[in-house]
Amino acid sequence: MEKIQNYIGGKLYEPCSGDYLDNYNPATGKVYSLIPDSDSSDVEKAVSAAKGAFPSWSALPSEKRLRYLMAMAEKIEENLEELAIAESTDNGKPLWLAKSVDIPRASSNFRFYATAIAHDHTDCYDMGDFALNYTLRRPIGVAGCISPWNLPLYLFTWKIAPALATGNCVVAKPSEVTPMTAYLLSKICIEIGLPAGVLNIVHGLGHKVGASITEHPEVPVISFTGGTSTGQQIARVAAPMFKKMSLELGGKNPNIIFADCDFEAALATTKRSSFANQGQICLCGSRIFVERPIYEKFRDAFVAQTKKMVVGHPMDEKAKLGAVVSKDHMEKVLSYVKLAEEEGGTVLVGGKRVILEGEHAEGYYLEPTIIEGLSYDCRTNQEEIFGPVVTIMPFDKEEEVLMYANSTKYGLSSTVWTSDLKRAHRMASQLESGIVWINTWLLRDLRTPFGGVKQSGVGREGGFEALHFFTEPKNVCIKL
Ligand code: NDP
Repeated sequence: MEKIQNYIGGKLYEPCSGDYLDNYNPATGKVYSLIPDSDSSDVEKAVSAAKGAFPSWSALPSEKRLRYLMAMAEKIEENLEELAIAESTDNGKPLWLAKSVDIPRASSNFRFYATAIAHDHTDCYDMGDFALNYTLRRPIGVAGCISPWNLPLYLFTWKIAPALATGNCVVAKPSEVTPMTAYLLSKICIEIGLPAGVLNIVHGLGHKVGASITEHPEVPVISFTGGTSTGQQIARVAAPMFKKMSLELGGKNPNIIFADCDFEAALATTKRSSFANQGQICLCGSRIFVERPIYEKFRDAFVAQTKKMVVGHPMDEKAKLGAVVSKDHMEKVLSYVKLAEEEGGTVLVGGKRVILEGEHAEGYYLEPTIIEGLSYDCRTNQEEIFGPVVTIMPFDKEEEVLMYANSTKYGLSSTVWTSDLKRAHRMASQLESGIVWINTWLLRDLRTPFGGVKQSGVGREGGFEALHFFTEPKNVCIKL
């Protein structure tokens, strides 16, 4: 059975403990590889390698750093097939999705930040004959990057690329649930000759490896994507140490559909925004609010189309949904369907586990699920489920739906469907979320700020926000 290894100081290593954890294939429910059960000793080695590499990596002209990043982007593209199969096997997502979204985006992340540093600039404040101020931006040192399992290589590289581009060295931990593509990335780093210690990847459990990175006094900057409660734990440790933090956390995103929308476009996109990646995208719209004049028409069409969605194993090209990531997660999602029924909801479609045939009989498959009849403030509508489960509710007035939409502790993204431009602007300005999509969903321009408000996070990723996050600005004032 394949044993994943840590990547430290340019080389692949067994964990210091010599212990391994089981890695499950969610499509079959069987163990298919082993993950290093690393601990603080492995993190210590990785931090020391990163510290050692920092002086020369940060001193490289950006022209030279960007070549390494471009080489990573190209190698990811060359190995698209292998990486996509690995991602699907590890995560349960359909292979077509890994091939068309996850892996191409990982490559784009490196390409985007390679070109971004080529075009970066700094501010200058001219005080006339009196003085001149300019801003120097310098890398911080060793960056800790911790990522989740839903978009494994996509989100892992979204942090690593800007950290490396700006001249930091990195100690990174992928989710223990989906470590395989990060391991393959470490082989790519070796293949392209990335200098030793610039990127270090330590595999293992969050409370051991993740916590050791967060606590380490020589890791002054932490970029984390994951659940809100993990984000709170990280903040509790990192804030008193005055670490710089970017926390990208959970969501409970509203999808608001007005009667004057383009009905077919709203319907087709709502199917995607509800169930893409088995509903395991932090940006999925899990609360659907439909204006009353079209409520029944929309609901019936949405239910009819959802019934036709095929749930299948990740290599099945017909499957719109694959497996959810783990047994625990499947059980958590099913427990929310039960809660919704207890809270008075009616399951219009789905709600159950799907048992496939043959070797996939023990895989973690769930039906796409739509629930009606719940109030906006019940637990099902307030807590993050993070699976293929959405609720649908009617509304009458703009102010009413704004109140529903803004009623959760989260504020990551919102979607609004309307042909009234003034209303679109009004809604965009009043929705409490870091991203508002009007008549679209998941249309991403990597230059834009990405992140949430309230308990969906602190700080922003993306574009120049990330370049700024991974650098410290210094004001230089010259008296003329
Ligand atoms: P978790 O918070 O459980 O884990 C995220 C990462 O943190 C994993 O690598 C995990 O390791 C690690 N970790 C766990 N405990 C600690 C700790 N005490 N200290 C440091 N690191 C730790 O999230 P999930 O992996 O379950 O991901 C799903 C969540 O991520 C959802 O809430 C989703 O909304 C959110 N998310 C947010 C996004 C955003 O951009 N805002 C994007 C994508 C997802 P291990 O796997 O070993 O537990």
